[in-house]
Amino acid sequence: MALDSASLAFVPVALPMATSTPSHASTSAPRRMGSTASVAATALAVGAVVGRGSVARRATAVKKKGVRVVEGKEVPWNLFSPKAPYKGSCVSKETITTKTALVNWETCHVIMDHGGSVPYIEGQSIGVIAPGPDKKGETPAKIRLYSIASSSPGDDESNKTVSLVVKRVVEVSGKGWCEYSNVPQGQDAEFPDAEKVYRGVCSSHICDMNAGDDVMITGPTGAEMLLPEDPEANMIFMATGTGIAPFRSHLRHLFHDKVSKGNFKGAAWLFLGVPYSESLLYDEEWKEMQAEFPDQFRYDYAVSCEEKCEKNKINGEMWVQHKMMQYSDELWELVKDPKTHVYMCGLKGMESGFAECFQERVEAEGMVYAEFLKKMKKDKRYHVEVY
Ligand SMILES: Cc1cc2nc3c(=O)[nH]c(=O)nc-3n(C[C@H](O)[C@H](O)[C@H](O)COP(=O)(O)OP(=O)(O)OC[C@H]3O[C@@H](n4cnc5c(N)ncnc54)[C@H](O)[C@@H]3O)c2cc1C
Repeated sequence: MALDSASLAFVPVALPMATSTPSHASTSAPRRMGSTASVAATALAVGAVVGRGSVARRATAVKKKGVRVVEGKEVPWNLFSPKAPYKGSCVSKETITTKTALVNWETCHVIMDHGGSVPYIEGQSIGVIAPGPDKKGETPAKIRLYSIASSSPGDDESNKTVSLVVKRVVEVSGKGWCEYSNVPQGQDAEFPDAEKVYRGVCSSHICDMNAGDDVMITGPTGAEMLLPEDPEANMIFMATGTGIAPFRSHLRHLFHDKVSKGNFKGAAWLFLGVPYSESLLYDEEWKEMQAEFPDQFRYDYAVSCEEKCEKNKINGEMWVQHKMMQYSDELWELVKDPKTHVYMCGLKGMESGFAECFQERVEAEGMVYAEFLKKMKKDKRYHVEVY
């Protein structure tokens, strides 16, 4: 391992271990919250957990509202349900990509104010309810989940905001698959000649937001992508597009926030895959982090439509796993290390990319890939969230 973190001081990072249960599986059982007072009381209890103090370590037999015990630690859980969401407001919305040949080129970073009522920890998601109409005409629309892109203190470290990174879903007939249309022909200003234009219900709602607009929030939820408790753990983060969200949350916790910076003793290596260099997400943040923590943080990206890779037998493009193959000796040593956690987030199919990268290595050492993976999952160091 090239990263040397031996000189850093140890301070425990009291974070819950991840489970292998898909985080979104749990959102199907919404709970109506009680009175405003009980919501506040729950938020207070959770606040103690988020503060990572001794309260978080106390064993509790009582089932608390708004809290779930994950690997023996309490985490905030569904404080707000789809039937009783929290009404927050948009603080700011910024388009963070530049136009490319793709109709769905736009990705936005949105900061939302939750007034301290929706505490969350790194790696969780929230739900957003758009006013609609939804696909079948429902108003408001059904909830959509979004991985949280800020660490628990929020981008401004006030403990009152939550940030998302959202891709605007647009499908245009003749420019990619489009079976449905929710915009009549000639009425979409951007594509007036298109026979069919489909604009995602919730992603459009979020990407069209202005400062001060209301936003209906549910959650928080999710235990699949939480950070390990061990401050000496290593992390390999594999992201495609907006799959960067949980890793921005993690990395700000590890390397940026006043309350936690300096506690982490391990190493983190981020691999980001995007179609064009104009689509790179938070590139400057990663470069600054790398300059400040050269022994602990590495950052590499694959730009599929601009870089070629002969190892990609499908279309010769450079995908995340092909970029990783360039460092396969170092990465394989890391993957074998029981202290290393592998996280994947973004496009479905990322797991096959991981297999493409490491299956041969596993077999060359006389192991069966399925068994190796099973062991990683059992050890809770293999984390996947794809959508
Ligand atoms: C755990 C999790 C985390 C996520 N995190 C993020 C994130 O960080 N950032 C992000 O951008 N997204 C994220 N997503 C995806 C997000 O939840 C939404 O799915 C996404 O924003 C699209 O929602 P939409 O309402 O804009 O699109 P929708 O309106 O729901 O459309 C989505 C798709 O459905 C198709 N469709 C349209 N009409 C119909 C119809 N009548 N019947 C059937 N299908 C139709 C469209 O072709 C379109 O591609 C996450 C998802 C999960 C599960």
